[in-house]
Amino acid sequence: MAVQPRRKAVTVDVGGVKVGGDHPIVVQSMTNTDTADVPATVNQVMALARAGSELVRVTVNTEAAAAAVPKIVETCAAFGVRVPIIGDFHYNGHILLKKYPACARALAKYRINPGNSDIGRKTDDNFRTMIEVAVENNKPVRIGVNWGSLDSALLTRMMDENSRRPDPKDARDVMLDAMVASAIESAQAAERYGLRPDQIILSAKVSGVQDLIDVYRMLAAACDYPLHLGLTEAGLGSKGIVATTAALAPLLQEGIGDTIRASLTPLPNGDRSEEVVVSQQILQSMGIRNFTPQVTACPGCGRTTSTFFQDMADQIQNYLRDQMPKWKATHPGVEAMKVAVMGCVVNGPGESKHSHIGISLPGTFEEPKAPVYVDGRLMTTLKGDHIVAEFIQILNDYVESHYSAATLV
Ligand code: SF4
Repeated sequence: MAVQPRRKAVTVDVGGVKVGGDHPIVVQSMTNTDTADVPATVNQVMALARAGSELVRVTVNTEAAAAAVPKIVETCAAFGVRVPIIGDFHYNGHILLKKYPACARALAKYRINPGNSDIGRKTDDNFRTMIEVAVENNKPVRIGVNWGSLDSALLTRMMDENSRRPDPKDARDVMLDAMVASAIESAQAAERYGLRPDQIILSAKVSGVQDLIDVYRMLAAACDYPLHLGLTEAGLGSKGIVATTAALAPLLQEGIGDTIRASLTPLPNGDRSEEVVVSQQILQSMGIRNFTPQVTACPGCGRTTSTFFQDMADQIQNYLRDQMPKWKATHPGVEAMKVAVMGCVVNGPGESKHSHIGISLPGTFEEPKAPVYVDGRLMTTLKGDHIVAEFIQILNDYVESHYSAATLV
């Protein structure tokens, strides 16, 4: 089954990156440094951008963080990194945005959590102040509902209303209804306070896969604002990656989602950029967007007792990923290239022929030689101690002759 056409959402311009409409689904990420620490935050923003994050969010939780934002944006720009930086506000956003106008100007978008502003209360001055600052500075806003900080007054009201129904829904469904209502009512309030519809993005994040799928289907049916998808608090390691993929894939398949984030918990000193790679990998595996040439590798089995082919597959994938920042500009289209690194003769030649370039390494009892296939044909056979270097040279020659900007003119 093919991916369904994207749900028609308005287009929002986030610092030059278009979100919604027919624009490609945007990959975003968030730093975990103390924003007040300018060098640490700049380094992480640049690492995330280098990994391919098209928007980067930073928390703006204190006066020191708000004061640091313009320096972070300037320093990244001085290093040639112009990724739009988004400010994440909770509780005191109305104070910080007013008191630090340079921060309000430097940010490309504000993320507001209606659950911890005063929207829906008798007075909603705090929410209104943030929207007015956005209007003044011509900035878009993401209204980001999270079930961990859902507007408790709204939830209580809806629970009460539900209990008076002749056929009350269960509490989970009311909670999802409340999340949708919080997002939509906040967006409507933002429009009343002067924000244009093309300056609003919505999200409604939960940590359960089935809950996420349900809440986004409801949100998608209820509005035409672009939607930011993400499973909140997805977790560590394979659990976080699998849960994020399981939640996002069905929605993306249905054409729901205009920008995505994988909210993974990195191990201490782990690589924050992994969340960018996971988002890209979800989109590329589903055939929605290409980011980097893909390496197909077999899982290995008793027919190959050495780890050589696994090491080689890893080296080739890393090599390709490392080249992408340069190749993106000089070799357009290379991101769709397919490479195979296979462990033995059983599926090696077949899989290699299905790729643009493939190598079939010798299994345990096979002759120590590795045929290389290019565009489905046997090109050469490698042997000896320099197979990886020689294969990389063949890859480079292929990229040069097939994707060089000059050859595409
Ligand atoms: S290609 Fe060969 S080594 Fe790889 S999984 Fe299949 S049989 Fe095993």
